[in-house]
Amino acid sequence: MLSPRAQKIKPSPTLAIDSRAKAMKASGIDVINFGVGEPDFDTPDNIKEAACRAIREGFTKYTPVGGIDPLKDAIINKFHADNRIPYKREEVMVSCGAKHSLYNIAQALYGPGDEVLIPSPYWVSYPDQVLLNDAKPVFVQTLEKDSFVVKPEALEAAITGRTKALILNSPSNPTGMLYDRKTLEKIAELAVRHNFYVISDEIYEKLVYGDAVHISIASLNAEVKARTIVVNGLSKSHAMTGWRLGYAAGPADVIKAMTNIQSQSTSNPTSVTQKAAVEALNGSQDFIAVMRSEFDRRRTFIVKELNTIPGMHCMIPNGAFYAFPNTANIYGSRFHEKTIASSTDLALFLLEEARVALVPGDAFGDDNYLRISYAASLEDIRKGMERIRQAVQKLVPVK
Ligand SMILES: *Cc1c(COP(=O)(O)O)cnc(C)c1O
Repeated sequence: MLSPRAQKIKPSPTLAIDSRAKAMKASGIDVINFGVGEPDFDTPDNIKEAACRAIREGFTKYTPVGGIDPLKDAIINKFHADNRIPYKREEVMVSCGAKHSLYNIAQALYGPGDEVLIPSPYWVSYPDQVLLNDAKPVFVQTLEKDSFVVKPEALEAAITGRTKALILNSPSNPTGMLYDRKTLEKIAELAVRHNFYVISDEIYEKLVYGDAVHISIASLNAEVKARTIVVNGLSKSHAMTGWRLGYAAGPADVIKAMTNIQSQSTSNPTSVTQKAAVEALNGSQDFIAVMRSEFDRRRTFIVKELNTIPGMHCMIPNGAFYAFPNTANIYGSRFHEKTIASSTDLALFLLEEARVALVPGDAFGDDNYLRISYAASLEDIRKGMERIRQAVQKLVPVK
């Protein structure tokens, strides 16, 4: 008999669709994969070389649980240079990916009876990590007309005596939207007044477009910084998803608890990866600009295409690498005898009929949308959009 905890949890839906698309591909079917949440760029050579050097030099043993000092210092410098936030060594730690940092936070902070505020649509792992720690996710709906930025009044209405934390994600996966300074200031004020933690997942910080600027809520003032744990990592910024390195910065007591928890689970992140991470943070950052301008071209193209497909409309995202088209007008239409009634029906229909993999909005808490990753070549995006258009044209519209 499995534990009640194990029974509460579902596998990550984005990884599930990704593996289904990969299986179709392996069996010879030409599937275009817009389901993935990782850059289609390779890790830069200087970073790979740093890892090779670490292996050759025998840097292959346990390290301190929360990371080696040169890496902590590189992270401290990054926070200072990019975000103007001062941290000390005892206020930062590294983990096996940002997801692991978030998990350590969940273990360190949440418990039975606690409520954790999650603006919706949300990244898939937030609610499950809350549930795994016997706390309760409390969703706060955001709207397309507000650019999917939570209204401070809506947030305030959801606060209770049991509110332990708020999970913020800007730029957002899945919506691609960023929080503006004014909204962050109001949220910071609520966090201080009601004394809850802010978990700020800033993994897409480097992927912002046009006039958009990323602001870290911890940079606003010392009071909110004292309640914020910033989470970041190298997966998205340096195309390093498989290396597994993320980091967190926050109050020393929280970081210490997270380090203790990590010491009883994974111990340190891979020694070799840590050396690569030092190079990623201290070495040339030119790669990021190249990747960003390529994403920017694809972003403009894909949104323009989506807005010409009948039944769909799509806002222009200003961060991350996802388009989040509204597909509600398609629901109710039919393909042969089957009605497309939800984002899951539509995603499965597109996988079968268009051989295009993408993630139903339902996975992120909003059934009116699909998430399409544009971490794919422009060529594949062009082909994929054409396939989607042709498949959607086969649907018999709602009467
Ligand atoms: C990809 C992603 C992460 C996890 O990144 P890892 O460092 O690979 O664990 C965390 N949060 C969001 C919103 C993401 O999209």
